Formats: sequence, structure tokens, C-alpha cells
Amino acid sequence: MNLRNCLDCALQDGSNSTRIYKLTEMDADHVTAWSKGGTSDEKNCQMLCRHHNRSKGNK
Ligand SMILES: [Zn+2]
Repeated sequence: MNLRNCLDCALQDGSNSTRIYKLTEMDADHVTAWSKGGTSDEKNCQMLCRHHNRSKGNK
């Protein structure tokens, strides 16, 4: 288990870089968006905090 659970937060220097989010504070994100042919299997999913999942959008 990592010491942080949002990959995007982990890449930043802020106070959230080691933050552990509750599941209710996170959303599943598709690494490759649906619109680009991404699938919904495990390999294409990662968990991000809601802030990052929303800011990432559907790119
Ligand atoms: Zn984050």
C-alpha cells in the first residue's frame, strides 16, 4: 500500500502529496478516456481524488 493514493497529488509538492483519501473522497478515473477507446477493465482504471479527477476531465 502506498503512502498516498492519488497519483496526481503524489506528483506535486503540496501538502496533499502524501495525503490518504477516503474512498468517498475519490473517484475512479479512466486512464484512457472512453471517448478514445478506453476500456473499463482494471488496467485502465486508477483512483484519483475528486479534485484531480474533475480537473482532468475527459481528456
Ligand atoms: Zn489528487
